[in-house]
Amino acid sequence: MSTPPPPLEPVDETWDRALCVVAHPDDLEFGSAAAVARWTGQGKTVGYCMVTSGEAGIDGLAPGECRRVRQAEQISSAALVGVPEVTFLGLPDGVLEYGVSLREAIALEVRRFRPDIVVTGNFRETWGGRNLNQADHIAVGRAVVDAVRDAGNRWVFQDQLTAGLEPWDGVREVWAAGSPQSTHGVDTTETFDAGVASLEAHAAYIDGLGWEHFDPREFLEGFARQAGQRMGVAYAASFEVFPMGFGE
Ligand SMILES: [Zn+2]
Repeated sequence: MSTPPPPLEPVDETWDRALCVVAHPDDLEFGSAAAVARWTGQGKTVGYCMVTSGEAGIDGLAPGECRRVRQAEQISSAALVGVPEVTFLGLPDGVLEYGVSLREAIALEVRRFRPDIVVTGNFRETWGGRNLNQADHIAVGRAVVDAVRDAGNRWVFQDQLTAGLEPWDGVREVWAAGSPQSTHGVDTTETFDAGVASLEAHAAYIDGLGWEHFDPREFLEGFARQAGQRMGVAYAASFEVFPMGFGE
């Protein structure tokens, strides 16, 4: 018998604005959307930023058409959890590279949105088992942490600071959803159904995966129940928390 995973501490929910930055449409729906629904239900403002439009994600659909379909699905999916606006950075799906230009694009969004919390996806090498994480996820997560610091530095990407745009150093923490090193969690018991609906909104994508008998509810339940056990609730979403202040 292996030892059970350690308990998850509730995340800090004393904030007003969160920006979720992920590589692909659907990344947030595979686990975080129910937490987003909880936060918007508390009156918080949440924005979505998609680094790519997932245009390389459906084998049977060429990128031009796929981009249109997936952007539309992401906008519907976001609306179902109380997120009215989705930004698409338009970087190339499947071949993102960690580097200065990726940091620059994300830093601009952080400066525009001025979030207290930035949510991204797991960017560790694995999901905790033997399956390796995907290259875009790793590039985006690493770039998010760096871009949050860049956004606060007046002398980094200073050509962005026109037309009233100012540096923003107000991000307190970056949260990586579903990390195998998660330390914190969000009770999603009350908003679990909204999270399921949000994943179901990616119908063309789910269809395109060709997974026979894929059931969004069943899929999300597995992870949510495991995380829930670590918080003593029915369902939860797990996050690895990276403090963005000094001295932690
Ligand atoms: Zn993805």
